[in-house]
Amino acid sequence: MTNLTTRYLQSIEAQESIEIGTLVNYLILDAVKAGASDIHIEPWDSSIVVRVRLAGVLTEMAHLPLELVDKIAGRFKVMASLISYQTDMPQEGHVAASPEFGDVELRVSIFPTVRGEKTVVRIFDPRSRSFEIGKLGFDDETIRLFTQLLARPSGMILLTGPTGSGKTTAIYSALYHLVQRSGPAISISTVEDPVEVNLPMVSQTQINPIREFTYPVALRSLMRQDPQVIMIGEIRDAETAAIAVQAGLTGHLVLSTIHSGSTAGVFARLINMEIEPFLLASSVSGVLGLRLIRKNCPSCSMPHSPEPSLLRMLPAELQSSPNFRKGPGCPECHHTGYAGRTALSETLVVNEAFREAILQKLPTRQLQQVAIREGMESLWQLGLRRVLDGQTTLDELMRVVSVDQF
Ligand SMILES: [Zn+2]
Repeated sequence: MTNLTTRYLQSIEAQESIEIGTLVNYLILDAVKAGASDIHIEPWDSSIVVRVRLAGVLTEMAHLPLELVDKIAGRFKVMASLISYQTDMPQEGHVAASPEFGDVELRVSIFPTVRGEKTVVRIFDPRSRSFEIGKLGFDDETIRLFTQLLARPSGMILLTGPTGSGKTTAIYSALYHLVQRSGPAISISTVEDPVEVNLPMVSQTQINPIREFTYPVALRSLMRQDPQVIMIGEIRDAETAAIAVQAGLTGHLVLSTIHSGSTAGVFARLINMEIEPFLLASSVSGVLGLRLIRKNCPSCSMPHSPEPSLLRMLPAELQSSPNFRKGPGCPECHHTGYAGRTALSETLVVNEAFREAILQKLPTRQLQQVAIREGMESLWQLGLRRVLDGQTTLDELMRVVSVDQF
């Protein structure tokens, strides 16, 4: 890959004359230009490996001399106002956007390893974030169901999916949608860890567990502030779950995210947090399951037959479809075969039949079947449609949707 970093290193005669500030700016500029979300700078055996996350997958970008490891970590520490001399403890910080490195904001994380400090930089491009629900890549049915859920005055809407599945963007889009729909007539409050984006007409609060300003503490006070809509960054403990359920039952619209392997699995997760099934059945109005899936590169994608072992996972009538596509990789897609990502989602709307299934404490697998019987198109079904349209590959679908969700 020819990039600014490589060209800079080639132009240097002796290692001693490398200017660290310039090198670091070039690393960031190269990553931004490639559309990366993160940069990993990691000391390995004989060199520093710089990898970037492109559309969710790590890709090597450069190798640097191992001797530079302290200087590079040191440079990021200065940029993020961290403690330069501290090298044996993790540190985290923020760097405001600057034209020197492409007008992006950076979140820097430094972590000590036995070979020196590993630096991971998360890149936020304020220009590329859109919070229009219609522009996230959702299919029309998801948009219809999601906006219908958001039109209800109360109840809980939960978003679930692995890290990096677009939950934060989707929940901000939901708030943005509510602001657009109701303007100043609606009172929206959030409790987050951390606040990632400032939204107009929303009062956002960041928790601070070190000072015991936790989710439960913040939420209990917030309830006295007369909010109509409450966004909780994440439900990860029983106390927060109990307050969220109570708020949903007492006339508030509650939006939150929760970690779970599947959409139907959210209910077992909340029951494990000591929420009674009858409370869940009456408070949760819907669950949106999210994944981000890479799209085939338009420049190199071509007809392709998937591996027989993968094909066997499909219904017989689809195995011979002529529409499978995959790209071998080209300069346009940084030799990955993929360009850009799009949202894949399933929307579980809690209706009478599903409520009954929650009350019967059915296991997750059976809850999932009830949801599908009641009309939910699963991640797998929706993804398969995208594969058969040639938008993505069967391999990619299997990477993001686990086999037990078929
Ligand atoms: Zn390509």
